[in-house]
Amino acid sequence: MVRRNLTIPATVAALFFLGAVTMLPYPKAEAKSKMQKQAFGKIQDGQSVDLYTLSNKYGMTVAISNFGGTLVSLNVPDRDGKIGDVILGYDNPADYENGKAYFGGTIGRYGNRIAHGKFTLDGVAYTLPLNDGPNTLHGGIRGFNKRVWTAKDVSNSAGEALELTYLSKDGEEGFPGNLSVKVVYTLLADQNALKIDYTATTDKDTVLNLTNHAYFNLAGQGNGDILQHQLALYASQITPVDATLIPTGALQDVHNTPFDFLQPIAIGARINMNDEQLRLGKGYDHNWVLDKKSPTSLSPAARAYDAQSGRVLEVSTTEPGIQFYTGNFLDGTIHGKDGKVYGYRSAFCLETQHFPDSPNHKNFPSTELKPGQTLHSTSIYKFTVQK
Ligand code: BGC
Repeated sequence: MVRRNLTIPATVAALFFLGAVTMLPYPKAEAKSKMQKQAFGKIQDGQSVDLYTLSNKYGMTVAISNFGGTLVSLNVPDRDGKIGDVILGYDNPADYENGKAYFGGTIGRYGNRIAHGKFTLDGVAYTLPLNDGPNTLHGGIRGFNKRVWTAKDVSNSAGEALELTYLSKDGEEGFPGNLSVKVVYTLLADQNALKIDYTATTDKDTVLNLTNHAYFNLAGQGNGDILQHQLALYASQITPVDATLIPTGALQDVHNTPFDFLQPIAIGARINMNDEQLRLGKGYDHNWVLDKKSPTSLSPAARAYDAQSGRVLEVSTTEPGIQFYTGNFLDGTIHGKDGKVYGYRSAFCLETQHFPDSPNHKNFPSTELKPGQTLHSTSIYKFTVQK
């Protein structure tokens, strides 16, 4: 009895105390964002665009522009702790606006090619502008990588984070539906990794394929070719292409072909072999079909290693495919950041994606988005070193 009498008021008091404590205005546990914002320059129509620099405690920094949602620089340590910029790019927004290489850009509405710029959705035929021979490449003449996005610092306990939003209007570059796109770049606080989260909604049935087009050279941008980098791709098939780099629709097994990167091998080891697909791509420029446990799980896609610097890049994604492109169209005519000249195969791209030309291939994972649905896609680019 006595005990009970004592216990009840004690419990009530404890609950009361807890309630009061939880109502106190707690200071946020998160560190304040140190994201830097600076003017990047002007684009042709006179608009000023900015550069946002995210950093973490390991010295990794990532600069992103709201012009094109572009990754402008990505600085990571090598095995001796020396920081270096491992992506290609330009020093100013005008060069991004005029450029044709898509350096670091956010690609949309549809990454990679759509055959003859045509597809049919709900029985309606759509025609897109052609910007790559007979096809539409990376969203058309002025894709998402050439649009001005709205930027917001959304840093949180996971790391410094930049949110970029863009409304792609119904009919823009020929695509149906007002598409609201959000890309959040988070530089993780506890590791040297850049996480990219994409979300999108539409008010009309549409198709989309979002990716980032960073060109990597783990030895540092402008430091020679990437043929000695070791690469693994966790994919047993590719989508072979025709002469205009449009998938034939087939899935081709990589075993016993120069496309087998299931075990790490130098990018250059077989790139010049006498192989029809390599000839058509002028090197590697293909979509690998990722081996996944479940279609939308975040799973490892690729691992690249440069023995010279010791830098390792690991890519994981929720996407079903990855475009591995070896900079076959780089020819030394582009002068990039810090006056560096970008020669033949001086970088590689690992573009996480749905398969090229999916709207015209019913057997490929669907790229359709309908009103009421939300597209979610995540890719992580993680950097470590190997001694
Ligand atoms: C494509 C290449 C194209 C390049 C443009 C890649 O995603 O697969 O064919 O030339 O982008 O920079």
